[in-house]
Amino acid sequence: MSTIQSSCAYCGVGCGVSVSSTQADWDHTDVSSLTLVGDNQHPANHGHLCAKGERLLDSLVQPNVLRYPVLRSGKPINWDEASSLIADKFAQTIAQHGPNSVALYLSGQLLTEDYYVANKFAKGYLKTANVDTNSRLCMSSAVSAMQRAFGEDVVPGCYDDIEQAEVIVLIGANTAWTHPVLFQRMLAAKRANNTKIVVVDPVATATAKQADMHIAITPGADLALFHGLLGYLAHNNHVDKDYIAAHTEGFDETVVHAKQLSEDINQLAKQVGVSATTLNQFYQLFIQHKHVLTASCQGVNQSVIGTDTTNAIINCHLALGYVGKTGSGFFSLTGQPNAMGGREVGGLATQLACHMGFADGERELLANFWCVDSVADKKGLAAVDMFDAVADGRIKAIWIMGTNPVVSLPNSSKVAKALADCPFVVVSEITPDSDTAKLADVLLPAQGWSEKCGTVTNSERTITRQRGFIAAKGQSKADWWAISQVAQKMGFAGFDFANSASVFREFAALSAKVKQAFPHKVFDLSGLQHLSDSEYDHLAPTQWPIATAEQIGQRGGRQFTRGVFATPTGKAQFIRPALAKTNEASSPHVQVIVNSGRSRDQWHTMTRTGHIASLRASIPEPVIRLHPNMLATFSVSDGDLVTLESDVHTAASPVALARVVTDPDLLPHMVFMSMHWSKQFSLGMGVNQFLDNRVDPVSLQPGFKFQTAVIKPI
Ligand code: SF4
Repeated sequence: MSTIQSSCAYCGVGCGVSVSSTQADWDHTDVSSLTLVGDNQHPANHGHLCAKGERLLDSLVQPNVLRYPVLRSGKPINWDEASSLIADKFAQTIAQHGPNSVALYLSGQLLTEDYYVANKFAKGYLKTANVDTNSRLCMSSAVSAMQRAFGEDVVPGCYDDIEQAEVIVLIGANTAWTHPVLFQRMLAAKRANNTKIVVVDPVATATAKQADMHIAITPGADLALFHGLLGYLAHNNHVDKDYIAAHTEGFDETVVHAKQLSEDINQLAKQVGVSATTLNQFYQLFIQHKHVLTASCQGVNQSVIGTDTTNAIINCHLALGYVGKTGSGFFSLTGQPNAMGGREVGGLATQLACHMGFADGERELLANFWCVDSVADKKGLAAVDMFDAVADGRIKAIWIMGTNPVVSLPNSSKVAKALADCPFVVVSEITPDSDTAKLADVLLPAQGWSEKCGTVTNSERTITRQRGFIAAKGQSKADWWAISQVAQKMGFAGFDFANSASVFREFAALSAKVKQAFPHKVFDLSGLQHLSDSEYDHLAPTQWPIATAEQIGQRGGRQFTRGVFATPTGKAQFIRPALAKTNEASSPHVQVIVNSGRSRDQWHTMTRTGHIASLRASIPEPVIRLHPNMLATFSVSDGDLVTLESDVHTAASPVALARVVTDPDLLPHMVFMSMHWSKQFSLGMGVNQFLDNRVDPVSLQPGFKFQTAVIKPI
């Protein structure tokens, strides 16, 4: 029996797994000889796994695996033909229409090495920053808020804060379902240390039901809740004046506004949708305890006020002097296994590698490092704008890797039409069955989770080696390899990587250069730039920043502990939120507020989990959950088929179709539909078909939450 350590494919907790085989030769391993358990040595999970993680091996038996490159006509081609075709089409498109007529759309499922090569290819050689990722849909509001407050996309805390906290506030996070291993750790802390768990969520979720306190706010009132808290702390003279004076800027302007909001606690409570007693109880927790940890997720991020809301949370922790301190501060729960790794290499269209922006000095450093005359000169199009540009013809060639935007983006019917009409679409996938793969002019077989090698970074900045343990199927290849082939066909030097270790070394060396040039930046992989292939293969989970090789294997560190931040002045910034309205729709119909989110046992658009019977059993079909008191309002009964459609779109707009299931855990006038469903797995269309593509103005993250709709019986 031999064992390989890797990481789970599903969420940002980043659990370590141990895969064992009864066969000696890993290259010829078949799935039936494998067993998978949690890795006892991994700091994220200490051996624990959730239901999805435990069934990872079931996901390897896909009903339809893509084994070779194929054209839209169905004609198989080899890699040489495929990469030549892509190189020619991209080169022709750029020659005729300029560099911004092409785009890459990536995924938090890619490994850091894939992301790095994709960004080098586009921003360094194609000269376009039209490289965005589905992480835009889950994380970018938290990223923007941390950049505004701390000067850099850096999560200050770590998982060890869970055991040190007296109070854990989970906001917009159904952690029991979406980050289960971390939630079990919180429950263990509650049992051992009497840690209070407080959940802020309009829905009585599985997480809320196990909390000490559930604050069922009006959807979208989280901004007022936390901005009001800042005012309340100031009114009660419970702010750390010394910390504020020494380590922050912008407090006075921000707090004036916050104090106005919290002056009348009854009025504020009404705005938030809770009683004044509940609001006082919540606010008092921050006065009575020194160690309060606030963790947010998609309920905060996926909103048109997601960045401001996150800054309102951070403002409170700054005012208390609780950032970078044990068991306290703000923590962002990431959705995907490598959302953070993608951000590190510049996976968002709005930034460059190693947390750099587009200032002249930063672009120059990158150009020198990559030995090119220049890199992309300005920010590219973020996800929603990118597919709008495909729809209106500004983008004429796009390469999509490891993601399914035809289902996952808002107004997704428009995305489907845009790709169908786009002159040239390349999709890298493990299956030809996804709704997006079906629209590819060239479909490339990508290596899956169990086959590819590289690194991922989890929510607490820990880099883990993902190790392949079964032979790649057919002609499937690593994404970094596929991009390198096309780059070389286009005549670009600098893409002759021998393996994923050589890609990682180059990235770490770039990080060392950036740290040298901009020492105030926190992100640093200098200590990993000289790893040998063997050291890379055996790399233990390591938390960044890693300045020296001696720090390899370090974990559990906090940032900004001395109150020095990555801003030009070294001081953290208070940000005064705009307190914009979340819901401008008006309609003659009776409206419901739509909340979408994840189900416990499914993943993204179900391409990996939809065929696993044991996971499918808990949600065999899509449903529209509705408060029982609202049945009469819409003249429907439990189990009826209904449509859910926008109250502001035209009559021709798409609808979601599903059965009504009553759910007293929801607020009245609110419906919930899980985000996973697509035509591939159900007859009705998913919730994203009819959501419009409004975005947060700062982060450009789509506002999936709090849109209004009408229900109609059919
Ligand atoms: Fe995988 Fe997340 Fe479950 Fe851990 S908590 S096993 S990373 S899905």
